[in-house]
Amino acid sequence: MPSIAHNLELILGRIRSAAERAGRDPAAIRLVAVSKTHPAESVREASDAGHRAFGESKVQEAASKIALLPTALEWHFIGHLQTNKIRRALPLFQLFHGVDNSGLAGQMDRIAGECGAFPRVLLEVNVSGEGTKFGFTPDALKSAIGPLLELPRVRVAGLMTMAPYSDDPESARPFFAALRRLRDELELQTGTPLPELSMGMSGDFEAAVAEGSTIVRVGSAIFGERAPRGA
Ligand SMILES: *Cc1c(COP(=O)(O)O)cnc(C)c1O
Repeated sequence: MPSIAHNLELILGRIRSAAERAGRDPAAIRLVAVSKTHPAESVREASDAGHRAFGESKVQEAASKIALLPTALEWHFIGHLQTNKIRRALPLFQLFHGVDNSGLAGQMDRIAGECGAFPRVLLEVNVSGEGTKFGFTPDALKSAIGPLLELPRVRVAGLMTMAPYSDDPESARPFFAALRRLRDELELQTGTPLPELSMGMSGDFEAAVAEGSTIVRVGSAIFGERAPRGA
């Protein structure tokens, strides 16, 4: 079985090549290694190989791993945050990728005020209108963005999306391109930079890099297949 260190090196190489093919600086793309369902020892293997940024989708699972691992690691929340987990989650994560409604952002802002935190978030967009039910529609986000940028605590750093599942990575490209164009429109509309585009997973990260991704979230191609949830 290939090692985690070897897989990381391969993925970083593929990100670099995809960036170069697109005429982009490879340093402009960050790899979040999605460690959900995998044990802390797997994260340690990646961290020993020099990797720093990890993604988790459950607060409790992340908290247990974070407690066992070096403090220098950076943690990304990539799941759907339940409002009763916000207080627990705020000190654990450097970036929240899946903020998919204004109510959640408002609650995060209020609780961040009580905790003295300034959470960085990405707004999740459902660009395809299919598959996942999560995320702002592009039109809903155009209406919601103004007040979201005025929240005193929450810092909106950009957008995140998931392309519908497909065997053909190229089929994801139009969705990634649509997220980038929406970002450009929102920047014009609001006059606020939204530099981060979190898009691309194991099956489609090269297409995402070609369309301007700044953060790819890669799990199974690094850590191996996940056991089904609840197994
Ligand atoms: C699980 C997950 C990933 C990683 O998926 P892989 O296909 O294993 O790379 C990326 N993003 C989100 C939001 C996820 O839930």
